[in-house]
Amino acid sequence: MRIRCFQRQGGLVIGLDVGGTKIETLLVDEEGNILTTMRVPTPTGNGERVAQGVISTVRLVLREANLALDDVQAIGIGVPGQVEGGTVKRAVNLGIEAFPLAQYVQEHVQGVPVVIENDVYTATLGAYSLLNRQEPVRHMLYLGIGTGIAAGVIIDGELYKGAHNMAGEIGHVVIDPNGEVCNCGARGCLETLASGPAFTRQAMQAISAGQRTSLREVDPLNPRTIFQAARDGDQVARLIVERATFYLAQAIQWLLLCYDAEKIVLGGGIAQEGSALVQLLMRHLRAWHGQSKLADLVLNESRLVARTSTPRLGVLGAVVLARQYLHQ
Ligand SMILES: [Zn+2]
Repeated sequence: MRIRCFQRQGGLVIGLDVGGTKIETLLVDEEGNILTTMRVPTPTGNGERVAQGVISTVRLVLREANLALDDVQAIGIGVPGQVEGGTVKRAVNLGIEAFPLAQYVQEHVQGVPVVIENDVYTATLGAYSLLNRQEPVRHMLYLGIGTGIAAGVIIDGELYKGAHNMAGEIGHVVIDPNGEVCNCGARGCLETLASGPAFTRQAMQAISAGQRTSLREVDPLNPRTIFQAARDGDQVARLIVERATFYLAQAIQWLLLCYDAEKIVLGGGIAQEGSALVQLLMRHLRAWHGQSKLADLVLNESRLVARTSTPRLGVLGAVVLARQYLHQ
């Protein structure tokens, strides 16, 4: 089945979203049709292993579509790390300190141009591309809520990355200076309160503290099963969801007041809760803004979109990245 997912433009491109556990791939033709999709485990540990995983995935995808590297115009890659000039830095989940990923891959795919970007930024591009197929939008925010929390900002149709490619690192805004230690070293960052691991950690803490909860019997224990337990009436799960969505709503409020974007798209694992998540967030926003003259700015439910569909935004954005390269 061919899915028309992109505007008709450019040549045949491959997009890869390299996650800590999976590499997700799309092969898209010049008409914008998705020819092949693929998910394979990510070989992690060092840059060369990750690069080899990318190269073998590219070859696999092409073989499946009966195509060759000669047919490919560009390859776009999203990676969970800081990206500077084709080099990936501080990609902790991949085991990369610094590695020239774009150059290495390009040398092993017969010189097909390879362009890489941070995965939150590629997801932002993916979200923006999808949104604009439905309605023209100039200013958009993306909030990725998964293993970490980070935002992407589109201003006047362009991705805004800031002076050090750090714009949108909202997961490390300190909310509770006495809170849990974050991966970044600080205490009480937003990530420690509302990311996927924060849900699971709080559930485990409640179990070890001997609290009465059905979560004790839940396997696997993850945000999805915690949300389900909350819907089933478990009080401990409800409290975890209530707290996390409170902080996420606060982040949405900051983002909307900072950028006044037309839409804010939620992505990442937690956004899989879809409209149920949007309803929870809206309830917190309504509670704060009952009296505020700015309420209209924040309280419009149509501005909040939780993306639950596949292909995922990150890999769609990697395709957009490759296509943008062709149109530079
Ligand atoms: Zn932090």
